Amino acid sequence: MRADGPFPSVAGAGATVLAGTASAGQLRFVAAELTSAVEEARRRLDLGPLSTLAFSHTALAAAMLLPLAAKRPHRLEVEVLGDGLVGKVMVEARSDGGLRGTVQVPRAVGEGGVDDLRLDAAFGKGLLRVRRVDERGSRYESQVGLVQGDLALDLAHYLDQSEQRRAAVLFGVRLDARGLRRCGGLIVEALPGTSASAVDEVERRIRELDSVHGAVESRGAEGVETLLAAAIGEHHRVHDRWPVGFRCGCSREGLRQRLLELGGDQLRELFETEETVSAECAYCAETYLFEREDLLEAN
Ligand SMILES: [Zn+2]
Repeated sequence: MRADGPFPSVAGAGATVLAGTASAGQLRFVAAELTSAVEEARRRLDLGPLSTLAFSHTALAAAMLLPLAAKRPHRLEVEVLGDGLVGKVMVEARSDGGLRGTVQVPRAVGEGGVDDLRLDAAFGKGLLRVRRVDERGSRYESQVGLVQGDLALDLAHYLDQSEQRRAAVLFGVRLDARGLRRCGGLIVEALPGTSASAVDEVERRIRELDSVHGAVESRGAEGVETLLAAAIGEHHRVHDRWPVGFRCGCSREGLRQRLLELGGDQLRELFETEETVSAECAYCAETYLFEREDLLEAN
């Protein structure tokens, strides 16, 4: 692991993203194994299976788009705004390797068991929106229609429409009765000037990989590398590798500021019936308690 990489290490994280090139620099790839980070989010947000599936795909999109984005952003948010069972899903990936997000309907109920979960029912029709935020807080946003019922295909469509880049995208998410078992993915992108035959070859190989599940499920991050070799050949070079972990970054002061936005009248009303007011972070479910003097001046 490069100690001087752009992504400082995250203590205790098992999830990994790696990026590199192949085919003599004609192809660029990003691969991710996010199981531990997404499982931590699932546990904290108490997500049901269908909501976990939707969150996992959105997390793969965010974590892998971040290193592909021009002028690597400070943070990148992927929002899936569909009319399906889980409602709006948002995941934010940050340049320090932190990952967090929300699902509007945490315990959406689909038909069948964990093996029958359908992503098209979870997301429905709507928009895939990508927001890049730089160090100074400037935002750049673009979006495409969500039409495929398959976020990997939607992401390839996004890269084509918004960035004029041809890419093949593969996601593998597997759940069992206890929670998330594996969550991994791969994006292979053709750099400008790449021969059409090199791109066709990768697309053909990726279509032939019947699923990411097998490789990622049995071997985790190593499985992602096996997958890379199958998709783009043994002669790929990994240039960067960094850990990703669930991390919220919320603070008591941040939540206090949000409560203060309610205004004095509403806050006084809350304290008429309660000794303390609690605020729960939507991303990590941490609860912060506030007393009257925390929120209302002594006057
Ligand atoms: Zn939080």
